[in-house]
Amino acid sequence: MELGIKGKVAVVTAASKGIGFAVAEEFAKEGVNLVINSRSKENLEKAKEKLEKCDVEVLTVAGDLRNEETLKEIFNITVKKFGKADILFLNAGGPKPGGFFDVNSEDWEDSFKLNFLSAQKLTYLFAPKMKESGWGRIIFLTSISVRNPIPNLILSNGIRMAITGMMKTLSRELASFGVTVNAVAPGYTLTDRVKQLVEDTAKREGISFDEALKKSSEKIPMKRMGKPEEIAAVVAFLASERAAFLTGQTIVVDGGQDMTSI
Ligand code: NAD
Repeated sequence: MELGIKGKVAVVTAASKGIGFAVAEEFAKEGVNLVINSRSKENLEKAKEKLEKCDVEVLTVAGDLRNEETLKEIFNITVKKFGKADILFLNAGGPKPGGFFDVNSEDWEDSFKLNFLSAQKLTYLFAPKMKESGWGRIIFLTSISVRNPIPNLILSNGIRMAITGMMKTLSRELASFGVTVNAVAPGYTLTDRVKQLVEDTAKREGISFDEALKKSSEKIPMKRMGKPEEIAAVVAFLASERAAFLTGQTIVVDGGQDMTSI
């Protein structure tokens, strides 16, 4: 399928590893120029090197997404080089685990800054030019937790619902301008961070990595975790010309785990 986005410009946050990197790589393969961000300059440069093999332009902004200066720099560097961004993929590190009494108000504020405000502020900066140009794609990374809250992950359960409410409302406001706004909600996806969690379980329970992985995947109907590229493929479709009539939706990519009917 021709996605029709060659030559467009995408901003991908938290892109040095995991789902963010897979999304950046999928865009690069489609000929999309990139502005990528993550905290570590070193990891970001490694990511840039891999992405440039696809013959696209890649700019980097190393910085914490909780920091307003990082967000402004992402905007300024993009506008200076390309004039605007056509596609935003708004991703960040995961919120701290814990139940209601395990996290305090500072944790809520920290996660709100990282997961909600970074996405809201970048959208606020970039969306006006999308509106003006009559084309844009805004895609928020949330989680399967928006369909079925996950025990012991109260920050994710709460804050990703706030993103979902913003996404849905904004999709209405931008629909007549050719700008679509959607969310992708992954289930368990085997990124380095998740591999580490599986490894920790294996050590704790005295079993092998493969046994721990099998155990962690039992609740997933496909009996395996997703691959970052499988999330990225859905994001690339949502960003494509082909998805022009699709807006205001959360697409769950979870190997069949979510049991809600619609
Ligand atoms: P990952 O740890 O593999 O990658 C996270 C990326 O975010 C890295 O590039 C890291 O450098 C960057 N990052 C972290 N904190 C940052 C900050 N403060 N500022 C800038 N960059 C920062 O993680 P992942 O598994 O790809 O997860 C990405 C997002 O998807 C997280 O929010 C996670 O909670 C969510 N998610 C993951 C899964 C899963 O199973 N992997 C499932 C649902 C949702």
